[in-house]
Formats: sequence, C-alpha cells, structure tokens
Amino acid sequence: MESFAVSRQDVLDQVSGIDAGKYARTRNFTDGGTQISPYLTRGLVTLPEVRDIILERHTPSQAYKFVFELAWREYWQREWTFLGDRIFGDVKRPQHPVSSRRMPRAVLDAEIGVDALDAAVRGLYDTGYMHNHERMWLAGLTCNLGRTHWWEPAQWLYYHLLDGDPASNSLSWQWVAGTNSHKKYVPAQQNINKYSPLRQHGTIVDHGYGVLADMAVPDVLTERADLDLSWSPPPSDAVAVDPAKPTLLYHSFWLNAAWRSDVDANRVVLLEPSWFARFPVSPMVTDYLVRCAREIPGAQVVVAEFDDLSLGDDVTFMAHPSVPHWRGHADEMPRMFPRVPEKSYASFTSFWKQCERTG
Ligand SMILES: Cc1cc2nc3c(=O)[nH]c(=O)nc-3n(C[C@H](O)[C@H](O)[C@H](O)COP(=O)(O)OP(=O)(O)OC[C@H]3O[C@@H](n4cnc5c(N)ncnc54)[C@H](O)[C@@H]3O)c2cc1C
Repeated sequence: MESFAVSRQDVLDQVSGIDAGKYARTRNFTDGGTQISPYLTRGLVTLPEVRDIILERHTPSQAYKFVFELAWREYWQREWTFLGDRIFGDVKRPQHPVSSRRMPRAVLDAEIGVDALDAAVRGLYDTGYMHNHERMWLAGLTCNLGRTHWWEPAQWLYYHLLDGDPASNSLSWQWVAGTNSHKKYVPAQQNINKYSPLRQHGTIVDHGYGVLADMAVPDVLTERADLDLSWSPPPSDAVAVDPAKPTLLYHSFWLNAAWRSDVDANRVVLLEPSWFARFPVSPMVTDYLVRCAREIPGAQVVVAEFDDLSLGDDVTFMAHPSVPHWRGHADEMPRMFPRVPEKSYASFTSFWKQCERTG
C-alpha cells in the first residue's frame, strides 16, 4: 500500500481517479476500498466535495453505491452530534453475553490463527489502515466469538487508525456487537475465503453461521491482555497571534487547507492534550496529523488547551462534537444532505430513505 496523501491537491487527484462502478463491484473484497477515509476523517476534503467530484464523472446510477457508503459516514457524524457522549456507551441495548472487557491477547499480537485477520492486524500496525470487511470480521470475532465488550477493542483500533473517528468507530463496533443493531455480526471462514486472497480451512471460524452464533469462546481468545494506550504529543509551536487579525482555529478532524483561504488570518491547529488523553492515538497517527496540519499555509501547530490560550475575540472554527467547549464563531460542518433534518434516526435505512426523498 502506498502511503497516505497529506496535500489537498493530491487528495483531490486521488478522489478524481475513483471508478465508482468498479468500486460498487469490488468494495467487499479486501483490495476493494478507495482508502480515502483518512482524508474525510481529517477534513482534508468534505463529503459533499467528494460526492460532487464523483458525480461530475459518473451517472447517478454509477455513483449510487459510493454515495450510499459516504452517507454512512454522514449518518454516524449526525448521530454523534445529536447523541453526544452517549455514543461511547451501549446505545440501544446492553451487550450480551460479555465474558471480559479486556482484549484477547491473540488479536493484539496477530496470533488468531485466521491468516486474513492476522494479516489485517499487521497491516493496521504497518499502515494505519484496515479494510471495512476486515474491521467487521475482527470486531465480530472479538466481541461475539470472544465475548469481549466492544469499548476497549474499539479504543485499540481507533488508536492505530489514520481515519480514527470516534463516531464511525464506536457506532460500527456497536453495530457489530448488537448494542446498536438487531443482529450481531459473526465472521465465517467461507465469507473470508470469498473476499480475501488468504483462503484457509479448519480455523476457529470455519463453521456455519448457526454454530458460530452459539459456540463457546475459542481457547485462543481466552487469554486477555492489558492495553496501554497513551498519546505522545508532538513538539508544539509557540503561539504567536497578531491581535489585528482574525484567528482561524483547526482541530484534528478539520485540517482543511482550503477553508477560508482568502482571509488574512492567524491560523492555529490546536491539539488539546485533554482530548488525546480521552482518545489516544498512535505516534503514526500523530505524525500524520502534524504533516496534514503543515499543509495549511502559515499554520502554527500548538499543543495546549483552548481555555489556556488568549486568541482574541475574533475566533472562527469548524463546529464539531469534539470541541463543544470552544468559543467563537462556529462554521457549520458541510453536509451532503443539508435538507435532511438534524435528529437521531432509528437506523441508517430510515436516514437514507430521507436522503433519497429530500435529495
Ligand atoms: C469495527 C469498525 C470500525 C470502524 N472505524 C472507523 C473509523 O474509526 N473511522 C472511519 O472513518 N470509518 C470507520 N469504519 C467504517 C469503514 O470501515 C471505513 O470508513 C472504511 O473502511 C474506510 O475505508 P475506505 O475509505 O477504503 O472506504 P470506502 O469503502 O472506499 O468508502 C468511501 C468512504 O465512505 C465512508 N464509509 C464507507 N463505509 C462506511 C461505514 N461502514 N461507516 C462509516 N463510513 C463509511 C468512509 O468515509 C469511506 O472513506 C469502521 C467500521 C467498522 C466495521
């Protein structure tokens, strides 16, 4: 896998090259994703921008599946905005059964014995990316076969993902674990063999779905490990704010080099230790964030708390659930479906129906 882009132009070029028809046919295969998730999570580009680029080059029916998948992201973002911190607990019903809240050691060490899953974990550590299907298989194995509560495994995955997004991550784990869906997701070797090149037989998941749903925790998943996730802050620039100019404030989910680019402003990318103490990310993710931040012309990258800074009265930032305490003018996060009411939807299906109806 090539490394992920940090410049907005490279990202736009990559998005322009997406073949939405091919994507629709291949997205479930482990080499089938577009790998644009870090760019969307970090705000290098927005959902409506990506949708519009795709629609310039495809008919609506060719683009349908891709836009449908983008809508999942918008759905989870809206749920976070509406439900707030409730998304970090079991949202609809408690997970059951749960034997442990701690990670199976075999998952952390990529020693599950299912080659496709072990390769996915190693790939995550090497690149900061994992394909959607691999995320589902791993989450299903950990939560449902391993009977592990979803929270700690979700934090582990989030820590390593360049696209780590608290809403997409927590709510997807919960979708798999059944706390945010009606049915739990379990991985089966026959499904893995269909979508991954690493085919195998005789593994712990080489059973029919009925057996997998009720089987005892496989021995390899019973040993638990302690997670030690903490954030190492990057070097901080000294804050130098010209009081005669407005200040544009960026966060780790909004590193958009084109935002208000016509304004003569102080530009400060603020990385708050209190946020990263709650949601730690790996050194690889931190390095990616800083490299993206450095693409914003004139930006200072500052490690500090908002409340400890004096940024003047003219502060503008992009509204986001991770910065409810920031004061100033908040721009609205661009939506693909701005006419669809902002509220919590019972399911993605009910949200998507509204999107199709309202356009
Ligand atoms: C357990 C689990 C954890 C996840 N954690 C995250 C996370 O932390 N951050 C994150 O961005 N996504 C997360 N996802 C959703 C999804 O796996 C990724 O968005 C996707 O794999 C990113 O790869 P891609 O860009 O190649 O996706 P593509 O298939 O090419 O899709 C294009 C874009 O659509 C959006 N998208 C597609 N599928 C989903 C989905 N199911 N949910 C939300 N958005 C979607 C993403 O922004 C993605 O970049 C998680 C899914 C699972 C099952």
